[in-house]
This record gives sequence, structure tokens and C-alpha cells, in this order.
Amino acid sequence: MEKAITVLPGDGIGPEVMKGTLRVLKAIESRFHHRFTVTEMPIGGNAIDETGNPLPPETIEQCKKSDAVLLGAVGGPKWDGMEQRPEQGLLRIRKELNVFANVRPVKAFGPLADIAPLKPALLENVDLVFVRELTGGIYFGQPKERKGSDEAVDTLYYHRKEIERVVKKAFVLAASRKKKLTSVDKANVLESSKLWREVVDETAKHYPDVKVEHMLVDNAAMQLVRNPAQFDVIVTENMFGDILSDEASMITGSLGMLASASLSEEGPGLYEPVHGSAPDIAGTNAANPLGMILSAAMMLRHSFHMNDEADAIELAVQEVLNANFRTGDISSNKDKVSTTDQVVEQLIYRL
Ligand code: ATP
Ligand code: MG
Repeated sequence: MEKAITVLPGDGIGPEVMKGTLRVLKAIESRFHHRFTVTEMPIGGNAIDETGNPLPPETIEQCKKSDAVLLGAVGGPKWDGMEQRPEQGLLRIRKELNVFANVRPVKAFGPLADIAPLKPALLENVDLVFVRELTGGIYFGQPKERKGSDEAVDTLYYHRKEIERVVKKAFVLAASRKKKLTSVDKANVLESSKLWREVVDETAKHYPDVKVEHMLVDNAAMQLVRNPAQFDVIVTENMFGDILSDEASMITGSLGMLASASLSEEGPGLYEPVHGSAPDIAGTNAANPLGMILSAAMMLRHSFHMNDEADAIELAVQEVLNANFRTGDISSNKDKVSTTDQVVEQLIYRL
């Protein structure tokens, strides 16, 4: 297959983890006989340096005409206090691509049990996915204002259509996995949550083989640390998803391992690691490239329907960890720390 990928390396460790990821994609190309056309474009701090704009129009245009977008990370102390912020580039590209569903897998990698904050017994069989609504809810609802010195208001607004499209994505995902969907809300107090629940129940009729449960958000926060293995797909609104997915990302104790996809109805998906630009380790060949590489695997699976290819990468990641090649962030033995490049080498060797 031929696919066009726009690559936005960004700032900090972004370019380092992207470099390794592109080598992995080259290995996939030759093993599975595909052609990936890669076009690199600026975003974030480096785009501010080059053009004065964290999201230049050429970058938007290139992203929109490609089949998928891979992003490293943006930001860093260099741009602190500037009028133009690197993070604006990220928020705006999400809006431009209309990616309303943020998908974040959380999986326990067996060999990493020694660095996870939860007991190993609780981590067995943890393989869940968050689907977070990304473009609506309380972060965007109007009115949103400060009224004088003593009052402020935010609005949690959802239209049925906004809920339907993200809930549908979650059902499709659940149907392709363990066929269980947990919808998280606060329907005992919030009107928007009652509408959310209604839409989930209506949509469920079209997916009879998916088992649906509703869970209140306070209970979900507790269940995620009490027994995370009970979950398959979790769908929720923007703010609940923001908070719970960060909580869940710590189940495995390894920020550098986590991947994400932000999906729209029709256009290209945006794939990026969960971690940020990590300025403290940038340029030292110490960054864990696996979150970025697993994000590329999600791209192959979700945007290109290349399941065997994505499986091959995930298996190779597992094998690299089994062989105990780890960057500093996931190492429990400071005498044996691998560099970014070594981890990439090991992975490609296994591919
Ligand atoms: P941002 O605002 O961009 O999210 P942040 O400071 O909140 O930045 P990160 O940049 O993700 O968060 O970094 C948090 C900590 O985790 C830092 O100490 C960083 O070095 C470490 N870290 C993040 N990503 C990685 C990675 N891929 N490999 C190794 N360490 C990482
Ligand atoms: Mg952060």
C-alpha cells in the first residue's frame, strides 16, 4: 500500500524519538512491501523560531492532505514567556483536523512490573483503552468567563451529535477487542451526563455483542487502582477523560511507553506519545522512544488497517523489554541503561 504521512517532530525529545520511529517504519515498509511517503513540517517552538507562528499554514495544509499525522512533542523553557506559545500549535492542529476522539491504550508490560506503583498481581491482564471526547465539554462550552473579582463560570455543554460520534468510535473499538464498554459519567448530578447515558444506551442497540456498563466517575477513579484488569474500553467526556487517563497512565509507571491517537470522522488521524518534550533530557540520547513507536503502530492499525504490521511492532516492543533493554525512565537497574538509539536498534533487529 502507498500512504502519505506528515511528520511533525516538534521540540525537545520530539525529534529524537521521531528519528527512531521513522527507522522502524522503514523496516515495516521493506518487510511488508509498503510505500510510506514522509513529509516533515515544523510545529511548536521550532516553528516559532522559523516563522514566528507555532502552526504555519503550510503545516496545516500538508497535514490535511496526508493519510495520517505523526507528532513528537512541543514546547520547552526556551519559549517560556513568549507571546506565541508552542502549545497553541498543538491545540490548533487538533481543531484544524477536527479530531474529537482521543484514544489512549494502557497496557501492562510484564517485564516492567518492577517499576509499576501497583502490585504485580493487580497488573496482570491490564489491557484497557480510554476513548476521551476531545473537542467539547467544559473546556469549550460558553459562557466561560470571569465575572468581576468574586464570580467565574464554565459551561459543560454537549450536543447529542458530539456524544454520538465519540460513543460510536468507542463501540467499534470495543467490538474489535474484549467486547466490553464502560461509559463513565456523573449522571446522578449532571444533566449533560444524563444525555450522555441516553446516547450510550441508544447506540448500544446497534452493537448487541458489546456488553455495556455505566459507571460514575468517582467510582471509576477508585476502580482504576483497585482492579484495572476489569476494564476493556472506557468512554467518557473531555474533562473526566483528561483526569482519568492521566491516572490510568500511572498504572504501569511508564509515561515514556504510552501512545495515543486522536481521530476524526473522515480525515487523517493524529498520533502522538502521551509524554511531553522532556526538556530535562533532550539531546542526550536518553529518551524512551517506545511511546512514539507505539503511536506509529496505532497509526498503522487505525488509519491504514495494517493489523499485522502493528502487531509486529508491538511484539518487537515486548521482546525488547523481555531482553531487558530499557531507557532510564523504565530502568530499575541504573547500571544497565540503554540509549534511545540502542532501543531502536534492538527493535529493528527483532522486526
Ligand atoms: P509537557 O508540558 O510537554 O507535558 P511535562 O514536563 O509535563 O511536559 P514531560 O515532558 O512528559 O512532561 O516530562 C515529565 C518527566 O518525564 C520528565 O522528567 C521527563 O524527563 C520524563 N519523560 C517524559 N517523557 C519521557 C521519555 N519519552 N523518555 C524518558 N523520560 C521521559
Ligand atoms: Mg505534561
